[in-house]
Amino acid sequence: MKRKLLGKTPEELKAMALEAGLPAFAGKQLAQWMYVKKVRSIDEMTNISKAGREKLSELFDLGYTSASTCQISKDGTKKYLFPVKCALGHGLNACETTPDDKMEEASIEAVMIPDDDRKTLCVSSQSGCKMGCHFCMTGRQGFHGNLSVADILSQFIAVDEAQELTNCVFMGMGEPLDNYENVKRAIEVLTADWGFGWSPKRITLSTIGVLPNLRKFLDETKCHLAVSLHNPLPEERGSMMPVQNAYPIKDVLSLLRQYDFSGQRRVSFEYTMFSGFNDDKVHADALFRLLKGIECRVNLIRFHQIPDFPYGTSPSGVMDMFRDRLNRLGITTTIRASRGEDIFAACGMLAGKHKEKLQ
Ligand code: SF4
Repeated sequence: MKRKLLGKTPEELKAMALEAGLPAFAGKQLAQWMYVKKVRSIDEMTNISKAGREKLSELFDLGYTSASTCQISKDGTKKYLFPVKCALGHGLNACETTPDDKMEEASIEAVMIPDDDRKTLCVSSQSGCKMGCHFCMTGRQGFHGNLSVADILSQFIAVDEAQELTNCVFMGMGEPLDNYENVKRAIEVLTADWGFGWSPKRITLSTIGVLPNLRKFLDETKCHLAVSLHNPLPEERGSMMPVQNAYPIKDVLSLLRQYDFSGQRRVSFEYTMFSGFNDDKVHADALFRLLKGIECRVNLIRFHQIPDFPYGTSPSGVMDMFRDRLNRLGITTTIRASRGEDIFAACGMLAGKHKEKLQ
């Protein structure tokens, strides 16, 4: 498989340019075309000679993939579907070094959520997921592979709103900390002056708490963090989220207590409300005790029913009571507005399939 240009640093691009017989400064030109102008083909790089572009195409792939479909919700949310070939292996070059016949053909989704003056892109980091959270459509489909950096960045370039995006959340398909090297490089490209030039404050990574890589993420980036908590009681959480057995939430919180979330960087906790499972006073009080002392916010999420799952969503009144109780106890808590449910784009519903195939 040809090496991909998308996702490389200017230094790496310089080496690739030299390999193609181009001058060293073409490395910077390549970065500009891909990350600032967001071109979708090597042919659009018009300040590189035609012969140079031909040589580049002979040796390398741009790495850009366009969306195959786009569904638009009645609330303006847009869901883009992408075909991908992904690798089961880990590491920055896994997708470039895995032989073609060992790559898994799959699809992933990205969701663009408009909100007043914001346009947030919810991106995928893996096709499927191995974490197996029982309430999640992505988890149910199993694991197909890790996305390359190019596949992660393509989601930002392919959407109609590519030049208008204000924020991004790594909250689509997959557990981003299970594909950490590629996600970290994508964040580097997004935040570098030579890259997209975004502030890390525009980026939030959502995780269920994969501890070793969580520590790396906290040390190596300045992006915001969202932790999927969903139940403060260890046994109940474990019954819904197998990760609890490997990395108990109390250990995740001990780690978070070592970092400062009172300034530029924020941490929030995602709490999906399941009727009769995690939505009473006992759970609100246990959640308060668990999070006490951490500068944070709790986002309550309406559960979107999926087939063969024993719990429904908590009624609105119950969610309001849960929110008010936590706020009274001093934990800032809001109910997150649900977006794109009619096109299966809401939290926990992404499955990389067309709606009709889900039914
Ligand atoms: Fe994976 Fe996140 Fe779904 Fe859990 S909730 S199965 S970590 S995608």
